[in-house]
Amino acid sequence: MTHSQVEWVFCFGAEEKNEHRDRRVQSTKRAEARRKGTPMIISMRLHATRQEIDEVRQQVEHFGYKVHSIEGEERVVIGVVGVGDVTACMESVEAMPQVEKVVRISAPYKFVSKEFRAGRTRIRVNGIEIGGDEFIVMAGPCSVESEKQIMQAAEGVARAGAKMLRGGAFKPRTSPYDFQGMEVEGLKLLQKAKKATGLAIITEVMSDRDVDLIAEYADVMQVGARNMQNFVLLKALGKCGRPVLLKRGMSSTMKELLMSAEYVVAHGNPEVILCERGIRTFETATRNTCDIAAIPALNELTHLPIILDPSHATGRRSLVPAVARAGVAIGADGLIVEVHPAPEKAISDGAQSLDLAQFEKMMRDLAPYIELWGASRKGEALAAAK
Ligand code: PEP
Ligand code: MN
Repeated sequence: MTHSQVEWVFCFGAEEKNEHRDRRVQSTKRAEARRKGTPMIISMRLHATRQEIDEVRQQVEHFGYKVHSIEGEERVVIGVVGVGDVTACMESVEAMPQVEKVVRISAPYKFVSKEFRAGRTRIRVNGIEIGGDEFIVMAGPCSVESEKQIMQAAEGVARAGAKMLRGGAFKPRTSPYDFQGMEVEGLKLLQKAKKATGLAIITEVMSDRDVDLIAEYADVMQVGARNMQNFVLLKALGKCGRPVLLKRGMSSTMKELLMSAEYVVAHGNPEVILCERGIRTFETATRNTCDIAAIPALNELTHLPIILDPSHATGRRSLVPAVARAGVAIGADGLIVEVHPAPEKAISDGAQSLDLAQFEKMMRDLAPYIELWGASRKGEALAAAK
């Protein structure tokens, strides 16, 4: 045996031992979790005081449970673990006036979990409702480029039936040498387009420093895929007073997406809309791989609305209408689509942008599917009311 072979055998032995130890640690952890029972989540009313939180802690401890974590600022969530008379403990804590709700939740994301709320969360924006009885289409250019461009886009998408205007004023670009957005000037143009058409505005926020500024102009704050785990930004959005559309990171799992949504909610803002925009895989024929199954899968896990972005999910305008149709059929709450009055001249994402006529045709072709979508939502509401 050479020296390196000896080393290799030694390493192999060590790895086996590690594996053995890992398995032992995991099974001990599982047994511990069983002993501790299912954790409970106590959500306090908004702005509960320190003293009110301490009273809840004492009550929980009285029943033999332990406070495991206290999170959030405006809306405090107390995680409780232990074994005891769970029903008596829950009833007693629920009766305290400073407590909003007590639930047993096994998922790591609490507020956004289906265990926390069984129905759908409806988010009202500028007279429309996302997550409700209407399929909402948001459309517009990738970036706001000029007054003429955004006004033409806004008028065109409104005529075709869109309810919200998208357009980036602060742009996350892969290259620092690419157009970074018109910034405040772009926000002002969006405001002008809203005045002219009545469309609500959705635009991207990239930094916690810009939250207050963008909230003055936007009806919905968009968090881009690249910022899905910008926790400082997510915390700031908890206090922005506007709904947030959270795009799935291109390499993020659904659980990570939900954990990011939980950040916004735990920090005071329950109005979060999730967005599937394709994930990065080995495939290169499309810009991203549209994870269409994420929509029903997320619907099983969360009560938050889910929007599909067929533009970034494919990167090719010829694929956008078919994928959009799949989004309607699979039960998304709406779409966010890139539309440009002259896609060949677009500064960003021209290849995946529909022109106004193509968008209008897509909307017409979607109409019967959207009608079926509406019937299925009604059926769901009737079944829930029984
Ligand atoms: C966009 O909406 O233009 C955008 C940059 O999207 P994403 O964050 O999904 O890449
Ligand atoms: Mn884009």
